[in-house]
Amino acid sequence: MNEVLLMGPGPSPVSHRVRSAMARPLLGHLDPRFLEELDRLQDDLRVVFESSAALTFPISGTGSAAMETAVVTLCRPGRKVLVLSCGVFGERIAAMVRRYGADLTLESFPFGSPVDPEVARRRMQEVAPDVVAVVQAETSTGVRSDVDAIAALCKEYGADLIVDAVTSLGGLPVHADAWGAAIVYSGSQKCLGAPPGLGPITVRDGLAQSQGEARSWYFDLGLISQYLGSERLYHHTAPISMIFALAEALRDLREEGLPGRFARHRKASTALRAGLAVLGLESRVAAVDLLPSLTVVAPPGGLDEAELRKELLFAEGVEIAGGLGPWEGKAWRIGTMGESARLQPVLRTVASIGRVLARHGRAVAIPEAGNQAAKAWEETE
Ligand SMILES: *Cc1c(COP(=O)(O)O)cnc(C)c1O
Repeated sequence: MNEVLLMGPGPSPVSHRVRSAMARPLLGHLDPRFLEELDRLQDDLRVVFESSAALTFPISGTGSAAMETAVVTLCRPGRKVLVLSCGVFGERIAAMVRRYGADLTLESFPFGSPVDPEVARRRMQEVAPDVVAVVQAETSTGVRSDVDAIAALCKEYGADLIVDAVTSLGGLPVHADAWGAAIVYSGSQKCLGAPPGLGPITVRDGLAQSQGEARSWYFDLGLISQYLGSERLYHHTAPISMIFALAEALRDLREEGLPGRFARHRKASTALRAGLAVLGLESRVAAVDLLPSLTVVAPPGGLDEAELRKELLFAEGVEIAGGLGPWEGKAWRIGTMGESARLQPVLRTVASIGRVLARHGRAVAIPEAGNQAAKAWEETE
């Protein structure tokens, strides 16, 4: 099978270096050489999270496992938890909070809109939450919420902040320390450019110790920190090959530098939108709320959008995703994440979508779409 160009909302493509890292011979999870690699990975994660916290590491599990770790650590029976949601992933946090028995207030903003900090302030005054959770980059809608503003409110009202940075970490700035966030978590397969399977997380110093025993054994930060700390106490077997892969992806990121990585995401998403606009596909998100890692457009009218995506995958080898929740059938979600945030994959995606539309009788200017994409890439800082 030819390699599929992964332009959906994750998993994103991985570099040859990252793939090779997964094929390295295994080491034991207590081998000092493995632990050295893990230590270095943790240092690299602190840089990308902008976190000084000791407990900064990859959860063994996907982004949802990291989400569940955050929730099980902070959202216990008797705790008041305010979830500020503007899409499917905010709703997922709320579903977890409910299961763990905390006193949930769910404030949902309309699909396609960000969290409104003024509404958030009013809800915080009414509810006086112990914990507030927010998604920085909502992958179901392609919308960015203003975590700086929510973090300032949490400081003002004395609430612990949980931030979902799954589709933002490595793609746009995350300020764990400056936000004073209790927990920020992410996933390996979006902007970090590693395969799915790890959920990077950073936990404010002292927080895990102050919470006591969690309801989950596997996601108990107190137990896990005994493996990461000087005791090196066995808790569960670290997923060695996955950690090699993430370490390699973070090494790439360190070499490129965060400013360069962020610029590449901005350039790629701007280029993609410029090319898609020529094909008649317009963004569903207001300019101020756009993500550099995900573009959401309305699919072409009058055609079966799911069939078009299937054709794009099988005839062109390009994967994009459809809409979720209320936007099912009404959105195309196209990622520019990690390795796909480059000009070549963007041009290939634009041309492939153009060819599929042309086969369905649409008059599309494919070369012009490519030209506009390349021009936007050049002109974006
Ligand atoms: C992808 C995603 C998740 C879930 O991550 P999985 O790796 O699929 O478990 C959570 N939050 C957001 C915002 C995401 O985009």
